[in-house]
Amino acid sequence: MQSATGETGRLAELVLEHRPCVVLTGAGVSTESGIPDFRSASGIWAEFDPREYAMLGAFRRDPEKVWRFYAPRFAMLTAAEPNPAHLALAELERRGLVRAVVTQNIDPLHERAGSRDVIEVHGSIRTSTCLGCGQRYPLAEVIPLIEAHGAPPCPACGRILKPDVVFFDELLPEGAMERATALAQEAGLLLVVGSSLEVYPVADLPRSTLAAGGKVAVVNRTPTWVDDRAELVLRESAGETLGAVAAALREPPLEVVEYDPEWPRRYEAEADLVCAALGADVVHVEHMGSTAVPGLAAKPVIDISVGLRRVELAAERIAAMDQLGYEYLGENNLPGRLFFRKDDAGRRAYHVHAVEHDGGHWHRHRAFRDYLRAHPEEAVRYAAEKRRLAAQCETHEEYWARKQAYVDPLFERAWSWYGRG
Ligand code: NAD
Repeated sequence: MQSATGETGRLAELVLEHRPCVVLTGAGVSTESGIPDFRSASGIWAEFDPREYAMLGAFRRDPEKVWRFYAPRFAMLTAAEPNPAHLALAELERRGLVRAVVTQNIDPLHERAGSRDVIEVHGSIRTSTCLGCGQRYPLAEVIPLIEAHGAPPCPACGRILKPDVVFFDELLPEGAMERATALAQEAGLLLVVGSSLEVYPVADLPRSTLAAGGKVAVVNRTPTWVDDRAELVLRESAGETLGAVAAALREPPLEVVEYDPEWPRRYEAEADLVCAALGADVVHVEHMGSTAVPGLAAKPVIDISVGLRRVELAAERIAAMDQLGYEYLGENNLPGRLFFRKDDAGRRAYHVHAVEHDGGHWHRHRAFRDYLRAHPEEAVRYAAEKRRLAAQCETHEEYWARKQAYVDPLFERAWSWYGRG
């Protein structure tokens, strides 16, 4: 996780720690796209009485009047662009950090931002249906009808279409509330964004999460009923907050840079400090990894392999490494111990692998390095592959997996060459 300050950082931690994260959004997630919410002082219901415009009874009585309210709203909702809050939620879903978005909104902005699993519990303007013949029409066909007639007539039977948004006296779309409740119960974290939590049954979803043992966090400018029971409440802008959370959770860019002749010198200077910190148990130290092979493009992290007499490290050795600025990762799935130190920009700059001297790990790394040093044409091909993958892969995970597929046969060649040497 990259650094983030204060409460935004805490929210990012909650997203990571309590998976899966399910998001519940309301009108407040779209106000920064220029769409007014319902209950703020400047909201829609400050101007229009919902009993006259958002009731099925009112629509049946006077559809033209209801469309006088909806027609300009359709134009506004279709013209609006996703804001940083929508984009951040889509990014978090893409990266596997958000399971789904349950929205009370009828605008299509979550979908347009790239969110894939969106449960629209109050319907959407994406389609309109004829209450006479049952025919359903997509937004692209309804917009010209609105422009031509104000209240759009059904092209099949002429009756006025009804937008597929849920009016106050209507049932919620079949299955949507069941799915939303199941998601709320599964959620490790239910993140409420831009909702007053006053419209039921959706407003009860946080209760389902809490009852199932999950946590709730709220990003909303004004109080909600769940604030007292929430792990974290941020009275901030949805766009700024979620944008900062997504940025905090973003991986540092994949960095594969051209060989730098400074690398061996950096290794020498650092290895002296590391050997002094690790003391008498050090038998041998070597520069390993890609930064040790002239001509090889690499992630600019200097790998320092320290061969130890005994791998168990006394607490004072770990403390001495800490003094040098090294974080200790313990065994880290290696037959040894791993430390790393970051540079001023917060990127890992040095890895120290403390391994058994003359052990398998030690020899595998030497085999790889020495084979590439002795076969520059392999180093050139490997460098090209790294550059290609770094440009193509979206996540570090994908990069490592695809690089490993290239490295496995390369290592086999190195190992049999090393065995002969
Ligand atoms: P609401 O109007 O009751 O509450 C919106 C909440 O968002 C308020 O508490 C407000 O303080 C907060 N808020 C506003 N701007 C914010 C921002 N930039 N950052 C953080 N918080 C912000 O809306 P609701 O809870 O969604 O419930 C009302 C109904 O409104 C829903 O059923 C929904 O269908 C409908 N609605 C939808 C849209 C839309 O589709 N964009 C717009 C208006 C209303």
